[in-house]
Amino acid sequence: MNLGNLVYSIGDPVLTKLLSPPYGGRGQYVYHGPRTSKRVALTFDDGPCVGSTERLLDVLGELGVPGTFFCVGENVAMNPEILERTDREGHVVGSHSQRHSRGAGLSFRDTDHIVDAETRIATVLGKRPALYRPPWGWLTPWEGRRLHRLGYTIVGWDVYTLDWKVPEPDPDDVARQAIADAKPGSIFCFHDAFPLVKEWDKSVTVETMRRIVPELVAGGYEFVTVDRLLDVPAYRPLDDVRAAA
Ligand SMILES: [Zn+2]
Repeated sequence: MNLGNLVYSIGDPVLTKLLSPPYGGRGQYVYHGPRTSKRVALTFDDGPCVGSTERLLDVLGELGVPGTFFCVGENVAMNPEILERTDREGHVVGSHSQRHSRGAGLSFRDTDHIVDAETRIATVLGKRPALYRPPWGWLTPWEGRRLHRLGYTIVGWDVYTLDWKVPEPDPDDVARQAIADAKPGSIFCFHDAFPLVKEWDKSVTVETMRRIVPELVAGGYEFVTVDRLLDVPAYRPLDDVRAAA
């Protein structure tokens, strides 16, 4: 193992522990909605991709529940028509940065990863996203401050699954764990796609939806988008351009 790999293998889990939910962000993250009513939100990161995102939109339509999609700017550039479809079918689009880089949020100065993704989404939808999820969940205090200055609610999660793994895990296991962790106000973190590729083949998330949605609905839960769960705006108008300094 070379030095770079050694630093990475030690540093990565330590930084993930420090910077991701539930400890990351030093109070600037929102992890869940009110615990007083049985409303929950499904979120999907890393798309849009041809194939995987389209199949997920199909199944959410069949199940009649909305999702909140944290999209990567470069994926939006590759698949603008899937982003349009996501919006048209009643789902909410948030930002997941331009290139899904770990390093950008660590930088003291860089705001391009936020502004470029916002511009890309706004070009397609005609409105600016106001919800942001940092890639890898890594949120430094200074990244949190600039996101708030740029007008974002920073959305974490309180139900995390391993649906992103390759090869894909068993959807029965993913669903069982998600249901066990769900509470009133929960925000579920799932992955519809893969960052920086146009097309992706994935079935675990779709199959997990088929298992968890009917079971939670039977348990009295209602699925809403993140903005409704948290009572915050999903978007800002196109002309609401904020200084990126
Ligand atoms: Zn991601």
